[in-house]
Amino acid sequence: MKPTAQELKIMQRMQPGVITLSGFLGSDTRPLNEILESDSAALAALDRSQQEIADRMESFSQASWDSYLGETLIEGKYLVQTDVYRGRLPCPYGHPGIFRKAITRLTNQSNGLCVVWTSLNIHLIREHGFFEGKGSAFRLEPKTLVKALFE
Ligand SMILES: [Zn+2]
Repeated sequence: MKPTAQELKIMQRMQPGVITLSGFLGSDTRPLNEILESDSAALAALDRSQQEIADRMESFSQASWDSYLGETLIEGKYLVQTDVYRGRLPCPYGHPGIFRKAITRLTNQSNGLCVVWTSLNIHLIREHGFFEGKGSAFRLEPKTLVKALFE
């Protein structure tokens, strides 16, 4: 499907050097709607919703944010750390809100999976079903993310 004018505008903001140095699309050459459709199908196959995943990420970020001890062990098996950096990022979809630069790292000690996300990733998944393009620094593969968060 040909991207709409609105989608082109969003994709332009996702390019390297506009909002973040490395951008949101990585080496993915597919139009935005195809990236979204493919990840949405992956979520359906995993039987998890955007909301559910974002809520889980948010609760891990929040729990480790409140800790000044570095890594926090949550539910006995998720090792989580959140680091906050200077600066704020806007949503590439043009929402008025801006997001703190906080990076959360989670290691699931049961299956050894490690995933990293930013505050903006949580918003992008919750509101837009966007997990970033393939090859992007903060691309979250739905299957890996779900296994890391819920297994
Ligand atoms: Zn947004």
